[in-house]
Amino acid sequence: MSIKKFALAAVLAAVASPALADNCSVVVESNDMMQFNTKEIVVSKACTEFTIELKHVGQLPKAAMGHNIVITKQADMQAAGNDGIAAGLDNDYVKPDDERVLAYTKLIGGGETDTVKFSTEKFEKDGAYEFFCSFPGHSAIMKGVVKVTD
Ligand code: ZN
Repeated sequence: MSIKKFALAAVLAAVASPALADNCSVVVESNDMMQFNTKEIVVSKACTEFTIELKHVGQLPKAAMGHNIVITKQADMQAAGNDGIAAGLDNDYVKPDDERVLAYTKLIGGGETDTVKFSTEKFEKDGAYEFFCSFPGHSAIMKGVVKVTD
């Protein structure tokens, strides 16, 4: 194989790599034990848009064991979480039009799924961000780091 052909093959292999395509989305599972299955979500700024799919693999209804994913700056997590609780179940425990909330899914119950797609533009590389469930009492356990990379 000539060097030219080899280089082209390498480029095509890189483009076709499923690992690269998967960098712009992640699936997070939650359950009846008040847990997410991950403590970290890596968001690459190379993606203009990033997708998070939240699955509730338990059986309890959302009024009893509802879960969502809310992303804020680490510094805003507590206050935005408190305002979310005040906003109540009808608002998915997220204060409407809260500018501190960078992305969030709906609140879901057992067997349900929700997906959020958001622009990575407002995230700064190496910034301190967190994801958490804003259902009352859940964020003490149901939280993790959002790591922003190039
Ligand atoms: Zn929850």
